[in-house]
Amino acid sequence: VIEINGLNKWFGDNHVLKGIDLDVLDSEVLCVIGASGSGKSTLLRCVNYLETFQEGSVRIKGWELTGDEKRINSLRARVGMVFQHFNLFPHMTVLGNVMEGPSQVKKVKKRAAREIGRHFLDKVGLSDKEKAYPNTLSGGQKQRVAIARALAMEPDVMLFDEPTSALDPELVGEVLSVMKDLAEDGMTMMVVTHEMGFAREVGDMVAFMDQGVILEENTPSAFFDAPKEERTREFLSQIL
Ligand code: ATP
Ligand code: MG
Repeated sequence: VIEINGLNKWFGDNHVLKGIDLDVLDSEVLCVIGASGSGKSTLLRCVNYLETFQEGSVRIKGWELTGDEKRINSLRARVGMVFQHFNLFPHMTVLGNVMEGPSQVKKVKKRAAREIGRHFLDKVGLSDKEKAYPNTLSGGQKQRVAIARALAMEPDVMLFDEPTSALDPELVGEVLSVMKDLAEDGMTMMVVTHEMGFAREVGDMVAFMDQGVILEENTPSAFFDAPKEERTREFLSQIL
């Protein structure tokens, strides 16, 4: 569903993505791990064209990303993204936040958008918070709203950039559990994370990124139990 081929990106003369090749198959969860500055966020941002790139190609369901504005907009509707910081609209209720995409971008009628919003709030276990404002929620609840908001666009794939890194430790589990449910429902996902337990349990594949390259990619058990590269072993020994 996600096909990345020969992706190269420079910020000025900083070569941050160096020939990335990655495929995420239908209903697969790819976890991307690696040190700070290795290019993980930039890679995800290229997949929904929040960043442009100089070489290579990205395809979503066979559909190639190009600079065409119309294409970028329809692409963004098909690729959901969840960030470390939740970026909710503070002046809108929880339900308002989740309805916004369907009603503003997809032009779904208010009533139908409300139904869609309620459906996805239920999915993330926050039906009882629909009238609340974001500033009254915990970080874990805010992130679940952000996930519901992305899901409300009914995307083909979901991208997560360290979705639990800004959370207090006791709130991490509720967000990971929503992501695990989503994976079990068959969502195709690319997840940048430091949660090795999640990568091992929920990931179908794990990719280790180092200085702009995918140094190794494998199934979680092979990756964690028998990493091939010295750099990977070093990284895992620091983090585990
Ligand atoms: P972290 O784990 O800290 O989030 P990361 O793996 O996500 O790191 P990126 O944020 O993708 O790494 O950064 C990769 C490289 O690109 C770094 O050298 C960074 O300084 C550079 N970079 C990222 N964003 C920009 C930008 N908007 N302009 C210029 N350089 C950037
Ligand atoms: Mg990052």
